[in-house]
Amino acid sequence: MQVPLLDLKPQMEKLHDEIMEAVTKVIDSTQFILGDEVTALEQSIAAYCAVPNAVGVSSGTDALLISLMAMGVGPGDTVLTSPYTFFATMGSIVRVGARPVFADIDPVTFNINPTAVAEALALDRKNGSRIKALMPVHLFGQCADMQILLQLAEEYRVPVIEDGAQAIGSDCPFTEHGKTTWRRAGSMGISGCFSFFPSKNLGGIGDGGMVTTYDNDFADLLRIYRNHGASPKYHHAYIGGNFRLDTIQACVLDIKLKHLEQWHRDRRQNAQLYTRLFEDARLLDETVTLPAAAYKNVPGAMERNYHIYNQFIIRVPRRDELRSFLQSRDIGCEVYYPVCLHQQECLRPYNDDTASFPEAEQAALDTIALPIYPELRPEQIEYVVQTIKDFYQS
Ligand SMILES: *Cc1c(COP(=O)(O)O)cnc(C)c1O
Repeated sequence: MQVPLLDLKPQMEKLHDEIMEAVTKVIDSTQFILGDEVTALEQSIAAYCAVPNAVGVSSGTDALLISLMAMGVGPGDTVLTSPYTFFATMGSIVRVGARPVFADIDPVTFNINPTAVAEALALDRKNGSRIKALMPVHLFGQCADMQILLQLAEEYRVPVIEDGAQAIGSDCPFTEHGKTTWRRAGSMGISGCFSFFPSKNLGGIGDGGMVTTYDNDFADLLRIYRNHGASPKYHHAYIGGNFRLDTIQACVLDIKLKHLEQWHRDRRQNAQLYTRLFEDARLLDETVTLPAAAYKNVPGAMERNYHIYNQFIIRVPRRDELRSFLQSRDIGCEVYYPVCLHQQECLRPYNDDTASFPEAEQAALDTIALPIYPELRPEQIEYVVQTIKDFYQS
């Protein structure tokens, strides 16, 4: 049996005719850049993310980059983020001339640890307050601990840029006086950054991204920055860039967005089946650690996207051997991420190499992603778990 890590074909086949019709319409309209479909998608995403504004951009990376640019973060500034995330989170910081500062992750959720964030902010205040933004990542589809992070951001007066590239539609609980309210990824920080890279839960037929914001002025600024900082045309108050979203991507994404909630549910159901099968296989006590759904037991979680499982990440001993074994049995898997950001070669000129983030470094050694996409069939999941059982019991 073959089990790819991700197979986009079933999704595409189901929507093929509808997508072709919409794409043909765009082609016939010749409005290829920032056409009406981009505005329509911006409105749909704003509604979906529970924010008044969404600005379509060219990729998730550019969503982060344009957010930092529009905030005026640059040389001499630092940005506090996680050392355990996709490269773009850090790359965007360095590209505006700022430097990344890291706080270690929580080993259970893989998200940035609020205690470490508090320490980093306190230290930074002593050293002259150079941190100009806090950039938590909602890694693998589950929100970072935003209730505490927002409190810290307020205390230290640092704006928050959410890297929600893996977490569109994910919900985060806020509990006060025993009452829980839920807030959606992208609605908590001043900027919410999303990616429509094809492997995300909402993926285009190419690159694309979106910035969400509750701040109307910031939204206006983003629209100017995505078009070379021009306002009006040919008058440049800022140096922006070409960060525009293609109309074809927008029309496809708007069609797919209607199915996103069901796809999230299907992913959660797959996660539940994995959990049951790993339990039955008696692999959980010593061998396999399943991904934690940190908010699953919070009141109201069942009606919420407490996790959207963009990735299903387990921790295992002998990770690299298991990876080869799975590959030899036609099971797709991947390591997200084998090298922490603070250890990337490109960062050497910027960072002191004594910094260490033990939880992130451990995660880079023992995590592996298993297939979780919505159309995965139960027998495929059974085969994955059985193959892992065979590996550890042989
Ligand atoms: C995918 C991703 C990005 C970048 O998005 P692109 O659309 O590929 O540029 C940024 N951050 C995280 C955490 C991601 O997973």
